[in-house]
Amino acid sequence: MENLRSWINGMLRVKVLIQKETGIGTGVKEIRILFLQHHGPAPFSESMTQAERDLILSKDIDSFVVIHSFSAAILLPWFYTSAPPPHQSFYEHLGKNMARLTKLNGDPSNHFSYGQPYEVIGYNASGSSSDWVYGKLNKMAIAVEMEPIYGNFYTQDGFHPSPSKIKTCCDDFYEAMLYFLETSDSILKPKNQSYDQSTLYIVWGHVSDEMGNPILGAKVELYNNDTGERIYAYTDENGFYMLNLATMNHRYNSSTKFTLLVGDVSIDFQVDDNGRKHVELTASNYIPELSLVPVFPVGIIILVAIANIYKRRN
Ligand SMILES: [Zn+2]
Repeated sequence: MENLRSWINGMLRVKVLIQKETGIGTGVKEIRILFLQHHGPAPFSESMTQAERDLILSKDIDSFVVIHSFSAAILLPWFYTSAPPPHQSFYEHLGKNMARLTKLNGDPSNHFSYGQPYEVIGYNASGSSSDWVYGKLNKMAIAVEMEPIYGNFYTQDGFHPSPSKIKTCCDDFYEAMLYFLETSDSILKPKNQSYDQSTLYIVWGHVSDEMGNPILGAKVELYNNDTGERIYAYTDENGFYMLNLATMNHRYNSSTKFTLLVGDVSIDFQVDDNGRKHVELTASNYIPELSLVPVFPVGIIILVAIANIYKRRN
């Protein structure tokens, strides 16, 4: 069964052209072999991987996820080997936090598995696009195998679940996908400095005034009191902000003291095991600096331009 499963996986994944001496008649016959997990004779030997590479290189991507069926698993680098990747702890956090947000067949007490392919689907998967994006571009890159966990390989119902299951399958993975998007601006350290990689963790919420009205353009700052480092974001028209600790330069742990700051309001916190924290902020007498920033320079430039025109004409 495991061989059949591997064979079908490989058949769907990569087509490789192989010449074979048949021994019957004369000359060489060309046959197409649908090969077991084969990565092809050379990097980008296949037109479909060339197209995928060119698409990725043509975009300024933050991170990468490729969604397959099936096994209900979140696949983390490396794919081609069972050796751990340089950012192993970072990816473990991502996998754990995403998996916790998944459901199986609508059941919130059951979850997708996560890990390197050899751990969760039973074999190394060499030649994957996720390995290339992470390996060459050093961007956060994973793959996801959607539900079901098990399927009948003869009828292909694992690879092609019944249309009646589509809504459930999407709903079961929806929250995990949102988490991936929230963390997609994570910045990976160069692989030789990965020991100092900051783990992903999302802090989000809204800033409102004392009347409960959202404040637009409020600068929400987040300090790491141990390293003195800070990141910040501006609120949108709903007063919404979101910050990702994996955009910070240095790693932290559960005892690191962080401070969230807007105007003269500050809240201290430490990260927990949930991967995400919701903090609503009420700021009194807050004057959003963002509304002032664009007005003055543009106004001054226009005034100078008008003054110059006026001078020339007179
Ligand atoms: Zn797959």
